[in-house]
Amino acid sequence: MHDWTILCDFDGTIALDDVTDALLSRFALPEWEAIEARWRDGAIGSRECMTAQVALIDASLDEVDAVLDALPIDPAFPGFVAEARRQGMPVQIVSDGLDYAIRRILARHGLSDLPIRANRLLHDGTRGWQLASPHADAACGEASGTCKCAIARGHDRVLMIGDGLSDFCVSGVADFVFAKKKLITHCRRAGIPHRPIVDFSDACALLDTLPELVGDTLPELFPLRVHLA
Ligand SMILES: [Mg+2]
Ligand SMILES: [Zn+2]
Repeated sequence: MHDWTILCDFDGTIALDDVTDALLSRFALPEWEAIEARWRDGAIGSRECMTAQVALIDASLDEVDAVLDALPIDPAFPGFVAEARRQGMPVQIVSDGLDYAIRRILARHGLSDLPIRANRLLHDGTRGWQLASPHADAACGEASGTCKCAIARGHDRVLMIGDGLSDFCVSGVADFVFAKKKLITHCRRAGIPHRPIVDFSDACALLDTLPELVGDTLPELFPLRVHLA
């Protein structure tokens, strides 16, 4: 199992709510919803959408931190990370959300050491905020802030865990997907190898069976399987 990397979405997958939406609905000037509607209609990509929306945030660092500190995560996620590490499968966060928010929320759960690839949330020192997207990829049709499929291509074998639109492109590249919510329907329709999960306790239980799920069987087990057949 040493060649597997687990890439894990954050908003809606680890965090129970969408962190960016929580900040925007609390602190952004009202135009943020019209921008959201243009993204929902497919007129703009998520990168353009979030760059414009984050610039509308009017909040101090303390105000932002207070909202972040109240956002819950899946209580089974820290145990899942520990189990994945025990099995030699490193976990990385790949998110089209905000790096600062993810880092702060994970730190609260003792997970400061998880690598994070996400958009950068930059504070101007007073009440202004900006977005930068160091992991965008102009070649990706998704026009997202973080191109998760380019990140997945940099790894040997990828287990993707996600829930929504920002995970559609990468799921077609991953070797296997644990899917929540909207991503389940997408994987089903696109014929992507996956298992549906409700939360990380399901993901934890499935981890052991990953070699069977992807059709890998240990050579010494092969005769036994033939015998049983
Ligand atoms: Mg998500
Ligand atoms: Zn992509």
